[in-house]
Amino acid sequence: TPPFLSLHDLHVHFPTDDGVVKAVDGLTLELPRRRTLGIVGESGSGKSVTSLAVLGLHDPRSTRITGEIRLDGQELTKAPESTLEKLRGAKMAMVFQDSLTALSPYYTVGRQIAEPFRKHTGASRHDARLRAIEMLEKVGIPHPARRVDDYPHQFSGGMRQRAMIAMALVCDPELLIADEPTTALDVTVQAQILDLLKDLQQQTGSAIVLITHDLGVVANTVDDLLVMYAGRAVEYGPVRDVLTAPRHPYTWGLLSSMPRLTSDVTRPLTPIPGAPPSLLAPPPGCPFHPRCAYTSHVDGDRCRTERPELPKGRGAACHLGTARARALFAGAGAST
Ligand code: SF4
Ligand code: MG
Repeated sequence: TPPFLSLHDLHVHFPTDDGVVKAVDGLTLELPRRRTLGIVGESGSGKSVTSLAVLGLHDPRSTRITGEIRLDGQELTKAPESTLEKLRGAKMAMVFQDSLTALSPYYTVGRQIAEPFRKHTGASRHDARLRAIEMLEKVGIPHPARRVDDYPHQFSGGMRQRAMIAMALVCDPELLIADEPTTALDVTVQAQILDLLKDLQQQTGSAIVLITHDLGVVANTVDDLLVMYAGRAVEYGPVRDVLTAPRHPYTWGLLSSMPRLTSDVTRPLTPIPGAPPSLLAPPPGCPFHPRCAYTSHVDGDRCRTERPELPKGRGAACHLGTARARALFAGAGAST
């Protein structure tokens, strides 16, 4: 059976007066049902642009999308807006970082949860309201029957984030994309929200894409991890394996900036100097080469001239190759 969600050679380009911004530049990935995929990378790596493309939320006048996005067999990049509109909310839904922009200040929380339910199921106002109360209860809002008529400003930040999750999940979507869903929250509430997403996934069997710049968030939450850099996937695999035996110098850099993850294996990896490249004119060869401390371990000029591809399955888009990357990573640990 084909994977539930698959992206094949996805390009999301924004033509501008200065040239074409290649925000996503050839991304291929697969996600089965009941699994959570984490996508990590710095801002501008293409994480959010990818999720907006899946949901069909880019303005077609300013965006050029090529390649394939398939959800449950259905191709989405060429689907008409009316089809996408039906899918959004019902089959796929999104949780954003900032609940204040996602929730309208002018309507009660309950109404904002009930509306998409009414729209997609044709339920009565009364039933939709009951459903909203049920959803508030599910996401852990105390006294949901009393809070359902509150406005967003009457909720705390953590409660608003839960309300937004309730809104996203009200139609039992099969795909949930959560873009930095906990970034604005304190650590305790973060953990609660992530647990909540896992619980809801257990109940509904949905597939989840969790987008974050924080490796600490993914460690205990996702099954598989995709590392993105400059619009490209640079490493992919089961999360444990990527975090304990990473194979791409960029992933090493990300990990070295995460002391609480690496404290058990203390590796003096080189932190990442410099900044991500311009997406207007990405460097030739490996897009990471201007920042990479390991180019001398690759034969000849390949890092500067030849673009490394991400292999299918566990792997890294790097000319070092698995064996050399393993040795370098282990060597960095041993030299302490
Ligand atoms: Fe570094 Fe070369 Fe690997 Fe790119 S291909 S990450 S420049 S070693
Ligand atoms: Mg983002």
